[in-house]
Amino acid sequence: MTIQADQETIIVEAFINGQNVKSLSQVAKENPTNPTEIVGYFPVTTKEQAVEAIEAAAGAFKTWKQTPIDERIMMMRKAIEKIRTAENEIVHLLSREHGKPLYDAHGEIYVSLMWMEFACNEAKSALQEEIKEHENGKTILSYDPIGVVAAISPWNYPIALSTIKIAPALLAGNTIVLKPSPYAPLAAAKVAEIIASEFPAGVINVVHGDADVGVELTSNPLVTKIAFTGGTATAKHIIKAASETIKDMTLELGGNDAAIFLESFDVHDERAMRRIVISNFLTAGQICMIAKRVYVHRSIYDEFVEKYIEAANRWIRIGDPFDSNTTVGPVNNLKQKNYVLGLVEDAQKRGAKVIPLGQILDQKLFEQGYYLQPTLVLGCDVHDPIVVEEQFGPTVPILPFDDEEQVIHLHNESIYGLTSSVWGKEEDAISVARQLEAGTTMINTAAVQGLDVRFPFGGVKQSGIGREYGVEGIRTYTEKHVINVPKTLDLPYIPE
Ligand code: NAD
Repeated sequence: MTIQADQETIIVEAFINGQNVKSLSQVAKENPTNPTEIVGYFPVTTKEQAVEAIEAAAGAFKTWKQTPIDERIMMMRKAIEKIRTAENEIVHLLSREHGKPLYDAHGEIYVSLMWMEFACNEAKSALQEEIKEHENGKTILSYDPIGVVAAISPWNYPIALSTIKIAPALLAGNTIVLKPSPYAPLAAAKVAEIIASEFPAGVINVVHGDADVGVELTSNPLVTKIAFTGGTATAKHIIKAASETIKDMTLELGGNDAAIFLESFDVHDERAMRRIVISNFLTAGQICMIAKRVYVHRSIYDEFVEKYIEAANRWIRIGDPFDSNTTVGPVNNLKQKNYVLGLVEDAQKRGAKVIPLGQILDQKLFEQGYYLQPTLVLGCDVHDPIVVEEQFGPTVPILPFDDEEQVIHLHNESIYGLTSSVWGKEEDAISVARQLEAGTTMINTAAVQGLDVRFPFGGVKQSGIGREYGVEGIRTYTEKHVINVPKTLDLPYIPE
């Protein structure tokens, strides 16, 4: 699927039924650190090729669903080992096409492998059929594969958010057509290629492109499940496209995750301060569950802001993703950079104070790439766009609040509900957490630092439908099939 053209340039082709498929046109993927440098090329998959991929997956499903679970797990374990062996190569490619620093790219592989291992360890018991004898007879509950899964992933964590779907879908006996994002298609395709090399032809297929291909994947009658991670606006199109054929869906969408600092939070705790800074600016803020609005109790607000700025200036070093000193790289693409810049400028026009954070390690590089200096935004109104929208970039507003009731209301009035965090004395924090509308709430930590792949992850309200990760993240790729065997043929309430 991926061909090393030379030392520098990667060429990716669609991968259908176990083979690379040549495309008529290719799109260049630039390096966000230096947009004149082409990292590689990926194809624009045609509608006909997308249909071919779906048909290949449907064909392979007939035999793949019969493959014993032990064999599926064995293949997945071999794939995991191959990814581990190729880790450095994958990480370099990811860093170049995405812009995330090397340590962060390694972190993405780390989370991906942790999840794939968990899925392998848990698949057998999660998918084991259950037999219950009871007063009415016997019931068998089996976890049957759904069929062809269309897996559509975003650009921010292209490998983690592809493997989060591939591993459980295949282990549960489904086949898959993966479409990575055109903003970061190369490393995800490389990893899919490695996994595919361990599985029969047609079990994993990879297509490329944007909405055109996405529409085919989400409307084709042969696709029975959609596993989508991306924006809430895109999800609305997907729901419409899928409505004609009523598909099963897992939707992991946008968020406007709040971090709430209670009166009992110790502003002198430097490790906690470092944690919140990282929870705001890891991957240049381009994470669904990054803390995107920070509320601080008014009694500690001034000191909090002062300590926050100190901690941010210590941790944030903006530079070349390949420089081990760098903690924050460029934004992935120009569209996102301009969007975030627009939100910051809008806040400034509304009277907010914008404070630049961190140190720029290489000014020339900073000017040449899609870099944005991280910013702290103070003095916003609680309903300003920079507070209520998902910024998905290196900027964060910090706002004071007066009492718990007010901050819980501000948290819950959002259309989103992905993750949130509450910081302070544990029992106070848990008590507030119980009142928040979110898929996950973390105590004294936030974002990826508080993620645990052993438990279900997903959003409430417009942040999504369904869950990934945990045992639920495996069973979400199954149909729960109940087989009832009655004990007698008597019909208790129906007249003779
Ligand atoms: P996006 O919605 O623009 O794109 C996501 C994917 O959908 C891409 O592969 C894209 O090509 C494809 N797509 C676009 N139009 C389509 C259509 N009409 N039909 C089918 N597919 C289509 O999102 P993005 O900009 O790549 O990612 C950023 C968003 O993803 C943010 O909102 C972020 O919060 C969200 N996200 C959520 C999670 C989560 O777990 N909840 C994780 C990461 C990112």
